Amino acid sequence: MPAFDPALAESDPEISRLVAEENRLEHDKLRLIASENYASRAVMEATGSVLTNKYSEGYAHKRYYEGQQVVDQVEELAIARLKQLFGADHVNVQPYSGSPANLAVYLAFCAPGDTIMGLALPAGGHLTHGHSVSITGKYFKSVQYGVRKDDHRIDLDEVRALARQHRPKLLWCGTTAYPRTLDFGAFRAIADEVGAILVADIAHISGLVCGGAHPSPVGIADVVTSTTHKTFRGPRGGMIFCKKEHAAAIDRAVFPGLQGGPHNHVTAGIAVAAREALAPEFKTYAARVVENARTLAAALAERGFGVITGGTDNHLLLVDVTSKGVTGKQLAQALDRAGIVLNYNSVPFDPRKPFDPSGVRIGTPAMTTRGMGKDEMRALAGWIDRVTQAPGDEAGLAKIAAEVKDLCAKFPAPGIRV
Ligand SMILES: *Cc1c(COP(=O)(O)O)cnc(C)c1O
Repeated sequence: MPAFDPALAESDPEISRLVAEENRLEHDKLRLIASENYASRAVMEATGSVLTNKYSEGYAHKRYYEGQQVVDQVEELAIARLKQLFGADHVNVQPYSGSPANLAVYLAFCAPGDTIMGLALPAGGHLTHGHSVSITGKYFKSVQYGVRKDDHRIDLDEVRALARQHRPKLLWCGTTAYPRTLDFGAFRAIADEVGAILVADIAHISGLVCGGAHPSPVGIADVVTSTTHKTFRGPRGGMIFCKKEHAAAIDRAVFPGLQGGPHNHVTAGIAVAAREALAPEFKTYAARVVENARTLAAALAERGFGVITGGTDNHLLLVDVTSKGVTGKQLAQALDRAGIVLNYNSVPFDPRKPFDPSGVRIGTPAMTTRGMGKDEMRALAGWIDRVTQAPGDEAGLAKIAAEVKDLCAKFPAPGIRV
């Protein structure tokens, strides 16, 4: 290595040490944050490549800078693979992440002050679907729908009634903490009735959708947005699929409407992830993610946990832990000390505040990427139960952390070197 170009460990020991520490955590702990996963070594290599050096404002063969011989091919390859994978007319791979992808949709179809509709955050929706603290709730007139009080499922009758009353420009369907399949056809019918653009945000489930484990909104919704780093297992980024008629509006909104130069190193990583998702093994992966979530839901319900909606159709479960005498935050913090990482989460109609709510959210995408299956889910339910019974027993938590570490050692994680 020439002296002017030292490796990270030499040039920045502090950051190098922290990266190594994170590597260790991701190896030794059970990672159950529903939006997280393990990107493969190949995805990370592409994302860590010289493509980070390139500026390429515009789209392939219509750039504002010269020197795009390679970059154009990278972007075209990513788009071609994603079209094949999702069956979309048009794909934009330039959004910096899921939230900017959604902002681009607002910019493409709305003017400030227009009415938009989305699932409320406390019911499992995302900030960018019109929540009051988000720019999307501040710059637009936001109408929020919820879930039913009795079964905690999205109330399509409420969606229809609110849509008829408010006639939104955009109707969002898509969730961030909701354990059930979405009926995209029903949303389509409501959008048609009121003349709304239907946007499906599949940030969490895009890996399940292209893996055949969740119905696809592509071809049903006018526009589909997603992150690339959740169940899709790519680098952190965003993507937008749309019908041909909206292609120009979406592309203009992403650039020059919202962003400058695309993150070409990320585009390369997305292309690699798309290739991985095209392989038959990815279908098996997607099916196992759901099977694992169902096994875990059943095992927790058997132990008396309040599994919201009684189970799951996707990669996550929401669990109300009130009946166990703990709060979501207490439990999440104790679990972290036991080597089990998840997030505290509001449950529908939660009487507690969002910063210390009644539940936890548990996702299976990362564990499943490590090859864990039904036996490991049952073991996990047992550990969660033990922690719930004695969240303050530090010796007990340390013992569980050691057991978790032993299990993790048997399931090497892609992209992790220890
Ligand atoms: C995660 C998520 C996003 C935002 O993605 P970021 O990459 O974190 O900006 C948008 N919508 C939904 C439904 C999500 O779950």
